[in-house]
Amino acid sequence: MTWRFALVIEPAASDDVRTDFAADFRTIDPAAPALSVGELSTQRGDGIFESIGVVDGHAQEVQAHLERLAHSARLCDLPAPNLAQWRHAVAIAASHCPAGESVIKLILSRGVEHGPAPTAWVTAAGAPDNSRVRAEGLRAVTLDRGYDIGVPARAPWLLLGAKTLSYAVNMAAIREAKSRGADDAIFVSSDGYVLEAPTASLILRRGDRFVTPAPNGGILHGTTQLSLFEHLDRGGFVTAYETIPAAALTDADAAWLVSSVRLAAPVRAVDGVEIAVDAELTASFNDYLLSPRD
Ligand code: PLP
Repeated sequence: MTWRFALVIEPAASDDVRTDFAADFRTIDPAAPALSVGELSTQRGDGIFESIGVVDGHAQEVQAHLERLAHSARLCDLPAPNLAQWRHAVAIAASHCPAGESVIKLILSRGVEHGPAPTAWVTAAGAPDNSRVRAEGLRAVTLDRGYDIGVPARAPWLLLGAKTLSYAVNMAAIREAKSRGADDAIFVSSDGYVLEAPTASLILRRGDRFVTPAPNGGILHGTTQLSLFEHLDRGGFVTAYETIPAAALTDADAAWLVSSVRLAAPVRAVDGVEIAVDAELTASFNDYLLSPRD
């Protein structure tokens, strides 16, 4: 049984300038019922979240996660989160994480139906063991996401750039990939451009150039991809955001799915076409991603 920690937050206004928010936090029994039956996060998936990787008690890239939480809140018309309050809550959750890898989740929900305010909570738990997928990689299939690359600009109400709690579609895509004999999916737009995986960003290598789909195409801007690009830039590599046709996937010199908890998993094959795996480079990515990052 994995350990778990949970903290309920009384969300503060974004302009509340306190530095100590301890009075707004209530540690709860993570195994006991905690949410009202009127909770809109459970009724409609109406809320947003973040998953932060923790290594030996250090929460990684907290600022980038908090900025994306604020971005998701803006897209969803949720009250702007008080980032100092969330940072304080993350620090408390991190202080409960033992050595090894853990995951802290931040959840901001629309609240209880007809209720006065959003509800918010933070959990921490042990991370799954991802050592095998980091070393051996995964096989992916491309799946049509069902809309063209211009949809996010035309239909912002689809909330495509927000990390909402409505992940049923993403989970269905992973099940579909597994039913086709693969490990994971890579979404492509209906007009044939690469987007992202259901729970990860995609990075391709072409020579000494590393590219990822531009985040304006209705995908999440991954904190792991951002951090890895900074690392690659410092190492003298070229990194770029591009509109990438699906055909470029199997032409790549290497490819990875990257995310906060799985870190860098090399893609061994796309739609049955093998892609070279650079084990040494992948190991160096994961060494970097496992080092303390802010
Ligand atoms: N894209 C989607 C749809 C995701 O769910 C995730 C992570 O959960 C990512 C990309 C990668 O984001 P991050 O690197 O911040 O974990």
